[in-house]
Amino acid sequence: MQKDIVIVGAGPAGIFTALELLKLGSDRKITIIEKGKAVENRSCPKTKVGHCVNCKNCNITTGFSGAGAFSDGKLSLSPDVGGELPDLIGREKIAETIAYTDKIYLEFGADTHIEGIGNPEKIKEIRRKAISANLTLVDCPIRHLGTEKAQQLYYEIEQYLLKGGVELIFNTDVKDLIIENNECKGIVITENGVDVPYANKTIVATGRRGANWLEAACEAYDIKHRPGTVDIGVRVECRNEIMEEINNVLYEGKLVGHPKPFKNKVRTFCQNPGGYVAQENYDNDLAVVNGHSFKDKKSQNTNLSILCSHNFTTPFNQPIAYATMVGKLTNMLAGGSILVQRYGDILDGKRTWPKELSEGNVKPSLPDAVAGDITSAMPYRAMISILNFIQDVDKVVPGFASGETLLYSPELKFYSNKIDLDTHLNTSVKNLHCLGDSCGWTRGLMMASVMGVLMARELAQTQK
Ligand SMILES: Cc1cc2nc3c(=O)[nH]c(=O)nc-3n(C[C@H](O)[C@H](O)[C@H](O)COP(=O)(O)OP(=O)(O)OC[C@H]3O[C@@H](n4cnc5c(N)ncnc54)[C@H](O)[C@@H]3O)c2cc1C
Repeated sequence: MQKDIVIVGAGPAGIFTALELLKLGSDRKITIIEKGKAVENRSCPKTKVGHCVNCKNCNITTGFSGAGAFSDGKLSLSPDVGGELPDLIGREKIAETIAYTDKIYLEFGADTHIEGIGNPEKIKEIRRKAISANLTLVDCPIRHLGTEKAQQLYYEIEQYLLKGGVELIFNTDVKDLIIENNECKGIVITENGVDVPYANKTIVATGRRGANWLEAACEAYDIKHRPGTVDIGVRVECRNEIMEEINNVLYEGKLVGHPKPFKNKVRTFCQNPGGYVAQENYDNDLAVVNGHSFKDKKSQNTNLSILCSHNFTTPFNQPIAYATMVGKLTNMLAGGSILVQRYGDILDGKRTWPKELSEGNVKPSLPDAVAGDITSAMPYRAMISILNFIQDVDKVVPGFASGETLLYSPELKFYSNKIDLDTHLNTSVKNLHCLGDSCGWTRGLMMASVMGVLMARELAQTQK
């Protein structure tokens, strides 16, 4: 059956493409194919059984709204955060589109409060401390949806799309693309007997969990792409009291440094005041750590990730494969799970024992993480960069480098396969477009949503 527009993946990038097409009055028939469930049917069994049961399609990262549904729902309202789309499209246009997309989030029920702008004097003071520690504080106003509110908001969007006539096909895994003579003709589905292989326009928006799949398709069909930066790191958890100033003033303190001796870029990312450390599972049985926070239900801890960026040149240029190896090695040491170690134990050159975890002030908010030794799996360069960075952050946030601070591993960000795009978001293959985190240009909810909006505008133009 021939379709007009087929979108693979119902994450923010895919759903904002459909949403904006409806808002523009497009009469094109839109089909979204998603391997996970409708947002109202998504729930992580861990909330009932207390541990990860390794679902075939991880409910945290698959289904309507993608990795956004169970995310903390922090919308970063700055073009300087969330990926390199401004380099492609222009900073001003991205800033305008963020403002536009933010209004849509508000229409669907986002909290009107913006974090990180209310206290300029205190922000100045934090920046002064950051400068003394050789760190840069990135300005980024944040609209915090909260995990439970994010699910409701995306449910409203799902209903809006359905009412607008968008066809939503769930529990359906797209296996391949149909590409002939450098033109994309549609997709291949082998499960569930769904019959939608042919499409005039195919939009791939498969997120980080679909990045591997898209990279393989790039190799198979010569879709022009290049290796990008891979981020390897840890999720740090400490008591709210330690993070109080940054939590209250900024909600998320985005600090960037280039610690000695390697001078790789190291940064804080995805801070969750009163939040919970979370596990997400990828298709190849890879368990990685993440974090989120609810709007109302709060823990006594704050978590955030510290990511160390790596670039490869020659002869090795497969950053996703490199990060996957690091992740698998860490999982192996943890019996297939997430490892956790106290910062002080790393400095003392010893593993952490389960009993020791219960002795400190910081009670792990991911209780099924396995106490052990993350240094046995983390590459030396990344580990040293992260440890030195933690000491720099301690100058801005006294107590951050306390011996009881917890480090969970692996935290890996799979957005390192960068698809070559022109300014109209065309790939090198006719009628194929790639969006969001899987194409390497975005790394967050707002920027992925913005890319969807821009894609819709391009599609609406070509319709005329
Ligand atoms: C726990 C957690 C917390 C986070 N917190 C934040 C935050 O606070 N702020 C922020 O900005 N970002 C956050 N993020 C990141 C954010 O969720 C992503 O950057 C964003 O969702 C990317 O959007 P996307 O549309 O590109 O991809 P995704 O949201 O990953 O969506 C891709 C979709 O494609 C589907 N898919 C993949 N492959 C296939 C296939 N072959 N066939 C069919 N469907 C397929 C997947 O099931 C998925 O639903 C968080 C992520 C996680 C996991």
